[in-house]
Amino acid sequence: MPITTAPQPFQPSVQVNLVKRTLWLLPLLLALGFVGMVAYWAEVNDANERAMFQNTLVADSQSVEAQLIGRQDMERTKLREVASRLGAHRLDGDAALKSMPEVAAGLDRLWNRLVWIDEDNQVMARATRAATRPVSASEDLHIQSSGQADHFVAPVQFADGRPAGQLLARYEITDLLKNTDLAWLNHRYQVDFLSELGEVIATTAVAGKVPKGSRYEKPLASFKESTLRLTPYESPASWKGNSSTLALLAGLVLLGGAASQLLRREMAHVTRAVATSKTEAAWRQSMEDSALVGLRARDPSGRILYVNKTLCDMVGYSRHDLVGLIPPLPFWPPDAIDDMMAYNMNTLAGDAPSSGYETRWKHRDGHTLDVMIFESPLVSSEGVRIGWMGSIVDISERKQLEEKDRRHIEVMAQHARLNDLGLIASELAHELNQPLTTIASYSAGLELALKKRLPNDLDLLTAVDAVHRNARKAGDIVNWIRRQSSRSEPKRAACDLNALVSGSVDQRKRQITRSRIQVHMNLDAELPVLMADRIGIEQLVANLVRNAADALTAQPGERTLWVETRVRQNAADEESFVEVVVRDNGPGLQGRTIDMLCSTFYSTKTNGMGLGLGICRSIAESHGGKLTAQDALHGGAEFRFSLPRSSSNPQKEHA
Ligand code: ADP
Repeated sequence: MPITTAPQPFQPSVQVNLVKRTLWLLPLLLALGFVGMVAYWAEVNDANERAMFQNTLVADSQSVEAQLIGRQDMERTKLREVASRLGAHRLDGDAALKSMPEVAAGLDRLWNRLVWIDEDNQVMARATRAATRPVSASEDLHIQSSGQADHFVAPVQFADGRPAGQLLARYEITDLLKNTDLAWLNHRYQVDFLSELGEVIATTAVAGKVPKGSRYEKPLASFKESTLRLTPYESPASWKGNSSTLALLAGLVLLGGAASQLLRREMAHVTRAVATSKTEAAWRQSMEDSALVGLRARDPSGRILYVNKTLCDMVGYSRHDLVGLIPPLPFWPPDAIDDMMAYNMNTLAGDAPSSGYETRWKHRDGHTLDVMIFESPLVSSEGVRIGWMGSIVDISERKQLEEKDRRHIEVMAQHARLNDLGLIASELAHELNQPLTTIASYSAGLELALKKRLPNDLDLLTAVDAVHRNARKAGDIVNWIRRQSSRSEPKRAACDLNALVSGSVDQRKRQITRSRIQVHMNLDAELPVLMADRIGIEQLVANLVRNAADALTAQPGERTLWVETRVRQNAADEESFVEVVVRDNGPGLQGRTIDMLCSTFYSTKTNGMGLGLGICRSIAESHGGKLTAQDALHGGAEFRFSLPRSSSNPQKEHA
């Protein structure tokens, strides 16, 4: 079955804590909180208004009662005035009573009957309101049932102070109510007066105007247990009944909810974006760190802004060490700071070669590395150049391989030249052998002839002898060269090393004398006889002595040459060696190693071939020994070669 889902490397895992996860609810919670506060405040406000309204209701009912009581008091006062006039003037009979203007006014006003009774409850006089005479009535009050009546009572006294009975004024409660001004209440309340049985005596109710509020009833003690009832037309409105307020609050909650929803979506988006960017950054970081190429970002002034792990590993410094540095940088080799600075200025000027440039850096631990640097501009999202990005490749290994190849080719070329040289030497040796043999034979014959004919001419004999010896020696060397080039085994014979050393120094006598070189020989008389290639060893010693003499000749001041032979024990394996040491107080090795000095064609002399030491070393090694070189303790050079004693032979060769 084919895989249809592509791998998604940038799948961020979103883990956010609870507080952040519920943060989006904040606008809704704020809106709900605000609405709750407004509702609470409105509720408190409503309660206050209701309390104030109730207080007003109570105060209004008390005002009505006070108004009625005031009216009663006024009627009593009027009645008392009538009673006092009645007693003072001894008025008698109904006619007299009716004739009194105060009585007429009272009847006209409220009273519907006036009776004067004496002390024995006998009616002295009476006056009644004419049935046709209506009591002026308030237009607002509608009488529902009448008949409830009450009396005002006033005592009557004669002028001499004797009691003359009582004056009673009967009135109907409804008439009293009719006379009461309720206009100030009408627009606010429906006013009802109830009998003691609870039935409505009088009311201000009008058709089409329905009271809404809750009733308030106040018993009127001075009116025969009747009750005043006030029912408000308008009671304080609750905020809950205000639809626009409710709509406003609901709208606010909805807005909070919508804002929360929007915030939630936005937060989810941002959280995902942040997680994605973090994941991408981590991916990028690990990719950069695992890259084989070192990366470094720099600002236009050359300050390091960023380095990856590979670059840190290359130079041995941490990211913390490098970021923020400006040139010269710590991994620049101290002896190349000027060159590196020039490269750096070139790069910052935008002139770095696009094909990169090679340079050498120094690792923190001291080793150097060859690097190839490619610089490219670092560009911002607006397209502005904000620095340089360098990619650095460690090419040390490649360089080493190149160097190895170069050296190999050089060695091959040297070998080829040596080969040619060997061929020429072999050819020359072959060519020289014949004439040298002839010279040796003729000089031997000449010597014999001279000994017979001129036995006393010693000078001549000595000269001929020298010619003969040197011709033989030259022949030996030529034969040795021929053997070397034919790669045949060295011809070993018993050798007296001390004699060979003395002979080699003797050979150089002329140069030693001319250059005023002091020679100190210290030859071990107990030196064993060695089985060795005599000509080869002689060449070896002669070359060391010649080199020492050459080094001393080129040097001013005192010139001394030490030559020493001795037996030396190797501490490690107890094998003993025969050792020859050639030391001088010349310029010394000046830091050059034996390998360098033995390199083929290495020479500091104008007419030197640079082959001598290399041949010396191979002669020593072909005998199982070795050639070493070091600076002498008090200046100059010290060469020593050692041959294993195992090649010694008790038979001494007699040269
Ligand atoms: P050549 O004698 O032809 O130069 P060699 O192989 O014998 O070749 O010597 C190589 C080089 O080693 C010399 O050119 C010289 O620079 C150096 N050398 C040899 N012996 C000494 C010495 N005793 N003191 C200083 N340098 C020396």
